[in-house]
Amino acid sequence: MQPFTYERASSVKEAAVAVAAKPEATFISGGTNLLDLMKLEIERPTNLVDVSRLPLDQIRETPEGGLRIGAQVRNSDLAADPRVRSRYPMLSQALLAGASGQIRNKASTAGNLLQRTRCPYFYNRNMPCNKREPGSGCAALDGFNRMHAVLGAGEACIAVHPSDMAVAMSALEALVETVLPDGTTRTIPIGDLHRLPGSTPHVETALGHGEMIAAVTLPPPPPGRQLYRKVRDRASYAFALVSIAAVVEKSGDRIRSARVAIGGVAPKPWRTTEAEYVLAGAAAADPAFSEAAESALAGAVGRGGNDFKIPLAKRTIRQTLAAAVEGA
Ligand SMILES: Cc1cc2nc3c(=O)[nH]c(=O)nc-3n(C[C@H](O)[C@H](O)[C@H](O)COP(=O)(O)OP(=O)(O)OC[C@H]3O[C@@H](n4cnc5c(N)ncnc54)[C@H](O)[C@@H]3O)c2cc1C
Ligand code: SF4
Repeated sequence: MQPFTYERASSVKEAAVAVAAKPEATFISGGTNLLDLMKLEIERPTNLVDVSRLPLDQIRETPEGGLRIGAQVRNSDLAADPRVRSRYPMLSQALLAGASGQIRNKASTAGNLLQRTRCPYFYNRNMPCNKREPGSGCAALDGFNRMHAVLGAGEACIAVHPSDMAVAMSALEALVETVLPDGTTRTIPIGDLHRLPGSTPHVETALGHGEMIAAVTLPPPPPGRQLYRKVRDRASYAFALVSIAAVVEKSGDRIRSARVAIGGVAPKPWRTTEAEYVLAGAAAADPAFSEAAESALAGAVGRGGNDFKIPLAKRTIRQTLAAAVEGA
């Protein structure tokens, strides 16, 4: 590991200023992803600014009827919160489907959103990787790409975003609040937080250097039944091959509205408005679920090892929608 300095921030503004002051400085929260990357010298920060003890560990009601989740709220505390469990069950389900109990006890809301891909070539410094070393190439394109993206990727990078929590938050239309080094704040819809790789896969988010996540706000829960389903190689402690976050509102035998987001298939949580459009107003039964699944994956491109994700995602969408309407 490269040498680095360490300081504990006493305010959000101070943390943002401290990171902004040095080009290679960065925030550390639970450290469950960053420290692994530092040990492998994939990330080499010169200065660590610890934000884990800032008073951002509260979950509060908003006047609109939603919840404001502090950036430091731990994944396990968020999953267990009674308001989250009753009003945003898909978020609780997604969090509990991720990592292990010990990791969830350390992992923060902000750190989970900003965790980096699990592409094995990204973690192997002997292999070309445009995300780790811009312009070096992408070993996954013709390599072992079983875990990789089928939507939203390109020739420069086919890595997926690994977060489960972010997929549920995408369907819930969460808003990410940040503080900039000059003390101003901004609100970023979660769909705009993560960037597609294009020709600059090393630029992963819309955040500027020193911009700190302070909270995530959930709007009032959408009407309908929520479900998060994750398909993975093992029953626990494995990243998603495919995951689906679905909210389905029924009116009689028809679907009044639906929201569908897919994880494990794209460089960012993949909200599929195409599927939602198909579902709105349709009879709540399989022809519509199948059509929605087909339209969600219409632009999918496999690279060999990950071809199986396309039918798998379609099946998981159909099954998740069917399960959602049973209880809707
Ligand atoms: C073995 C293992 C299995 C896992 N399985 C899963 C899984 O199945 N599903 C899943 O979703 N996740 C999984 N994870 C990932 C885990 O959820 C993340 O490592 C964790 O959520 C990161 O949170 P953290 O607080 O530890 O972040 P850190 O490691 O501290 O930071 C991560 C990044 O966020 C930045 N950051 C932290 N806080 C802020 C802030 N307030 N503002 C701006 N930037 C900030 C850091 O600078 C860093 O770049 C797994 C991890 C491990 C080690
Ligand atoms: S898929 Fe992305 S992260 Fe993986 S090797 Fe290629 S460029 Fe690197």
